[in-house]
Amino acid sequence: MRNQTPYLDAPTTPIQVSGTKPRRRFRAWTGVAGLSLTLLLVTGFVVYGLPSPEHPGGQLFGGLTGGPSSSTEDNTTRGSTGASCTFPPQQAERLEVPSELEPDRLQPKMRDAFQQARCAAKEDGVQILVKSARRTAAEQRRLFRQEIKTRGSEAEARKWVLPPEESAHVKGTAVDVKPQSGAKWLEQNGNQWGLCRTIDREWWHFEYDKDWVGKRCPAPR
Ligand SMILES: [Zn+2]
Repeated sequence: MRNQTPYLDAPTTPIQVSGTKPRRRFRAWTGVAGLSLTLLLVTGFVVYGLPSPEHPGGQLFGGLTGGPSSSTEDNTTRGSTGASCTFPPQQAERLEVPSELEPDRLQPKMRDAFQQARCAAKEDGVQILVKSARRTAAEQRRLFRQEIKTRGSEAEARKWVLPPEESAHVKGTAVDVKPQSGAKWLEQNGNQWGLCRTIDREWWHFEYDKDWVGKRCPAPR
């Protein structure tokens, strides 16, 4: 009876050098290596090649497909520290003041902290947009008066909007962000750069203080 060997289709009979074990071990090793390589490629494609909220066209192929990431959406130059990254100008939506959407108008240290945090969030696939950054005293006054009308009294209005001389937005050390997912990320990670959510009922409002850098944020007031 013919012996069944794994070499039925081999053109020549394999020569047994020193038993079959080393060959089997080698075959097993190449199998594992091949599987690992396949997994690595698949993972790489999933991580870098597929669309994400931040890279709608897929980072790897955005440039080739001419998707949104190659034109307006993504003009990022990603650095190894995550601090080097830029964002396209935002278009104002309803009730937003265009000049308040510019992070460059914040106090320099606040601006740097905020931009570094946004870049780190971007690397995590989280988008942080500006709803309101630096406000002029006139704009803050307008908002305060509007709030007094809405709430019925100055005391009640102050719970929602501060007068210009007290507002961190006028000082350039506060930023309101959107969407909520971005605010949540910032609440969890912002203290690395001295950014903390400071007003209990406002999930969007963050302030900067150099004394908060790397420390636990104070409880929102
Ligand atoms: Zn605010």
